[in-house]
Amino acid sequence: MGTDFEVRTLRTRARTSSVFGSNTRQHSMHRIARDNGGMYDAEAMHVQSRARSAAVFCATAEGAKPVYRAVAVELGLTLAERGIGLIYGGAKIGLMGAVADATLAAGGRVVGVIPHVLVDKEIAHDGLSELHVVDTMHTRKRLMGEKADAFIALPGGFGTFEELFEVLAWQTLKLHAKPVVLLNVAGFYDPMLTFLDVCEREGMLRGNRNRLLVATTVEEALRLACLV
Ligand code: AMP
Repeated sequence: MGTDFEVRTLRTRARTSSVFGSNTRQHSMHRIARDNGGMYDAEAMHVQSRARSAAVFCATAEGAKPVYRAVAVELGLTLAERGIGLIYGGAKIGLMGAVADATLAAGGRVVGVIPHVLVDKEIAHDGLSELHVVDTMHTRKRLMGEKADAFIALPGGFGTFEELFEVLAWQTLKLHAKPVVLLNVAGFYDPMLTFLDVCEREGMLRGNRNRLLVATTVEEALRLACLV
């Protein structure tokens, strides 16, 4: 957890503007959300998008199936091919390392943000376009959020879930208006999506279930994220 000071800083930022900064596309998204009864219209956002950077949340593990790494590599390559920057947690290992290596190998731009305490544990990537070593997990997430135009989650563990649900929760609170996309590789997230349907049915999500945009391919993820 961060210090009180950091929490206060985040609150102040939230009051004055979006916590993750503002851009033209955000304003478009707010307008679309209002016009559409609060539901985001991915097609409409696509037309108005100027987004050029994706924050990718994913595992420090490789996972049990080769398809997880294969899709991570495909996402990394596609980002580079489309001229979309990658913002991620700065690790060299697991799916995180796979996405970053693929983007770099294809000549793309990769920005990593890693806290001091994880530089050794997650093996900070030493070949990135930029590596920011920050003090806390909170600073890491805030910087990633500020630099990105959209969020894409691949399969992962607790860290990935935490990052995904935070940006989703903050979007529902209107603290930012950037698309949040789940790339549901090989049905990895099916049980979680079923649970979210239960949460919606039980009245816990206040109609926000569909704010989590779900893709099954890299192409669809980039389209839903308004990056292409
Ligand atoms: P995992 O999905 O558990 O393999 O973790 C993926 C990434 O999320 C790793 O880089 C973790 O360091 C990171 N992570 C875990 N917990 C947090 C947190 N509370 N805030 C920010 N990043 C986190």
